[in-house]
Amino acid sequence: MLIDARELDDGSRIDADLAIIGAGPAGISIARAMAAPGTQVCLLESGGLDSAAEIQALYQGESTGIDYPLAATRLRRFGGSSGHWGGYCRPLDPIDFEARDWVPLSGWPFGREALDPYWEAASRAVENAPARYEDLDYWAANTGEPLVHWRCGRIQTRLFQFSPPTRFGEHYRGELEQARDIHVLLHANVTRIAALPSAAAVDHLDIQTLTGRRHRVHARRYVLAAGGIENARLLLLSDDIAPAGLGNQHDMVGRCFMEHPHLGGFADVVITDLQRLPRIYREQVMVDGRAARVSYVPDPDYLRRTRRLNISFTMSPIGDLHDDAATRTDPALSRQLDMLAAARPFLADQAPTSRPDASAGAGVRMGIGCSCEQVPNPDSRVTLSGDTDALGLRRTRLDWRLTEQDRRSLVGNIEALGAALAAAGIGRMRPKLADDGIWEQRVAGGSHHMGTTRMSDDPKRGVVDRNCRVHGTDNLYIAGSSVFPTGGSANPTLNLLALAYRLVDHLQGQPA
Ligand SMILES: Cc1cc2nc3c(=O)[nH]c(=O)nc-3n(C[C@H](O)[C@H](O)[C@H](O)COP(=O)(O)OP(=O)(O)OC[C@H]3O[C@@H](n4cnc5c(N)ncnc54)[C@H](O)[C@@H]3O)c2cc1C
Repeated sequence: MLIDARELDDGSRIDADLAIIGAGPAGISIARAMAAPGTQVCLLESGGLDSAAEIQALYQGESTGIDYPLAATRLRRFGGSSGHWGGYCRPLDPIDFEARDWVPLSGWPFGREALDPYWEAASRAVENAPARYEDLDYWAANTGEPLVHWRCGRIQTRLFQFSPPTRFGEHYRGELEQARDIHVLLHANVTRIAALPSAAAVDHLDIQTLTGRRHRVHARRYVLAAGGIENARLLLLSDDIAPAGLGNQHDMVGRCFMEHPHLGGFADVVITDLQRLPRIYREQVMVDGRAARVSYVPDPDYLRRTRRLNISFTMSPIGDLHDDAATRTDPALSRQLDMLAAARPFLADQAPTSRPDASAGAGVRMGIGCSCEQVPNPDSRVTLSGDTDALGLRRTRLDWRLTEQDRRSLVGNIEALGAALAAAGIGRMRPKLADDGIWEQRVAGGSHHMGTTRMSDDPKRGVVDRNCRVHGTDNLYIAGSSVFPTGGSANPTLNLLALAYRLVDHLQGQPA
């Protein structure tokens, strides 16, 4: 059932078994999975069914580190940022979960196998089932071309499967309207997570509409699913009982903000033997009515030997980035394009063509891009700014930082890809990334917000435990990529959905 919080009597009290803050992919998926006769779910969403400027403005904030557009990289409406996402889906790699002695603060409390039971449900949620991300025989058989056998031990073949992309707000709206055990409250901004005087549990949520109505939601359990930046902000704003913010007894809330630094045009790539590079390595290919393409990822043993971070490369015909009038009518997408364009200054001198280029010798010039893992860095963080929003709440201040280790790892991984292409007789690559220290101006984020309520069994190193429960607050859980302790190089949404279904299992197995 959908309810407009602006139409409830002022001061209404809503009771539920489970209250979920945020109706993005995580919140909607948990609500659908948890609702059952006898389990009433209240799903609280700040936005309405469509975007509205005054609601989106609640996401504006201050960027003090690498320039970051806080409002343009997320969407505050029913369905969350899935209203804009690109649909790239790939599980994190097993090495991303390991404690690596060269990556400070690395190590999830469990290995990737803990998420294996949930890939299918996560993939179904984004209309991607069956989940065949790593079944290389399947892709070889169904594309009709054998995949590359990288003999050099530097690179491995990984696959993206593309969601249509599923717009969670539109796709699941009808189901949620009909669901008797789910009450979706639209235009319901959670302004405070009100804890008991001991801070050992949440008592209720304070709700405010932009029209000035105030309500309360009482539940037995609460899931915070407001997105990778807003999850931290809401904990920091809830500072009446716990002065540093809820769950922040060890000053970890908001720290270790991670993105996937994206960079393009950092090398000249010439494919000298196209026959050796199947289509799926350079463009999206349709298999069983679904799109997929290859992500070039370093071999885990190679990463261990070289002590580097993970990375995901993609290769495309030059000029693949569509920038047309239709796209430009959407301000957030337009901003995304500007960020991508800023990251590809080296491509400016290249003609938008994928035809053989005589100056490059015999071969086809290709565009190249990458999405990098970054080191968890406590100084890269979300705090609160002095400015307030239309609800009177302190806005976000984001200080996104990268380190010299991030840059060195990128440079090394680029060289490794070049060596792998040459060793396989596919082509050659001439890196163009100067060692000039200004690379931070060339990277752009991927709108992937991770790490600000990181997971660790040690409350001094993390905000939530292995079950996504906030340390020290019994009935409060967090869903979304803010709990990722490290971010790997795969896009977050499929992974945060797998974690959300794992959280559902945990909640269903625990009497409230
Ligand atoms: C342009 C773009 C492209 C992207 N492409 C990809 C991609 O290809 N692949 C990929 O994996 N990911 C991609 N992403 C990231 C992806 O969209 C996010 O990972 C995903 O949406 C996160 O889901 P979520 O439910 O955790 O949070 P969100 O989608 O951010 O949803 C959070 C919800 O909480 C609501 N909310 C916030 N604050 C409050 C409050 N105080 N009270 C009540 N409600 C609140 C918001 O309105 C929103 O509906 C992209 C993002 C963008 C912007």
